[in-house]
Amino acid sequence: MDMTRVAVIGAGVVGLSTAVCISESIPQYSIDVISDKFTPDTTSDVAAGILMPHAYPDTPVHLQKQWFQETFDRLLAIANSSEAVEAGIHLVSGLRRSGGQVHTRKVKDLWELYGAYDVVVNCSGLGSRELVGDLQMFPVRGQVLKVQAPWMNHFIRDGDGLTYIYPGAFNVTLGGTRQKDDWNLSPDPQNSREILSRCLALEPSLQRAWDIKEKVGLRPCRPGVRLQKEVLVQDGHQLPVVHNYGHGSGGISVHWGTALCAVKLVKELITTLKISTSKAKL
Ligand SMILES: Cc1cc2nc3c(=O)[nH]c(=O)nc-3n(C[C@H](O)[C@H](O)[C@H](O)COP(=O)(O)OP(=O)(O)OC[C@H]3O[C@@H](n4cnc5c(N)ncnc54)[C@H](O)[C@@H]3O)c2cc1C
Repeated sequence: MDMTRVAVIGAGVVGLSTAVCISESIPQYSIDVISDKFTPDTTSDVAAGILMPHAYPDTPVHLQKQWFQETFDRLLAIANSSEAVEAGIHLVSGLRRSGGQVHTRKVKDLWELYGAYDVVVNCSGLGSRELVGDLQMFPVRGQVLKVQAPWMNHFIRDGDGLTYIYPGAFNVTLGGTRQKDDWNLSPDPQNSREILSRCLALEPSLQRAWDIKEKVGLRPCRPGVRLQKEVLVQDGHQLPVVHNYGHGSGGISVHWGTALCAVKLVKELITTLKISTSKAKL
């Protein structure tokens, strides 16, 4: 029997977790990740990485809770495992161990992948605005500072969540900004000065922080996460697609839950296509 070939577009936390989740759930599929950017150049690399529920107005609350819980459980299991130290590289290494290929390439049209893959999973985040013409997608710009301040062991967050100090494994993230419809990926020195001054007011010891790096990411926002299957049709050909994008401010917090849903949709598409193939042969 021929192997089912799946292409996952996007190598942020959503694309990589979806690729790993498919390869863990259905080892007999071959999975390639195709992306124009990889770590450390994705939005996911800029995120502070805090697990916190974020509201998606157009996504049913029970689904949001389910995605958050599944992601929390998965990350807790990793934190308690021997892989905890290398958790940051877990997704890519997990995929490579299971035989997945990684390609650096910008996809301009999903039909470019027709013939080479049986199913395409679209995890292109903000790129979906151009790739699939989703005009509901918009950026919310976030600028942060990544600094060395190894004495910081606890996180601090102000009331509205705009100012925060989040210690991570390799640095401390100081934030931040939320600028709707702002596409500027260059750091703004004025933003940096304001972030530092707000964080110093919360934690004066940060005066001693060193190796201050400015980072900018565009949150891939949408009123609701798009988790949906679709069969594109062109000149009598079919291209099965699963969309998994639009995670906005909370992609880190729900990535595993949405990956599990995407796997279910991939399985459904494959089953339907096999039924229609056998029907076509009758
Ligand atoms: C400052 C900041 C702080 C944040 N803090 C948190 C936090 O604490 N907790 C939390 O849960 N979330 C947080 N987030 C949100 C989180 O970062 C996002 O929700 C998450 O990164 C989205 O992941 P993604 O994989 O969908 O998108 P991305 O990481 O943007 O990945 C998209 C991928 O698709 C690829 N791509 C796009 N278009 C194409 C194309 N046409 N062809 C090929 N490849 C393509 C890109 O190269 C990229 O690899 C934060 C975001 C920012 C900016």
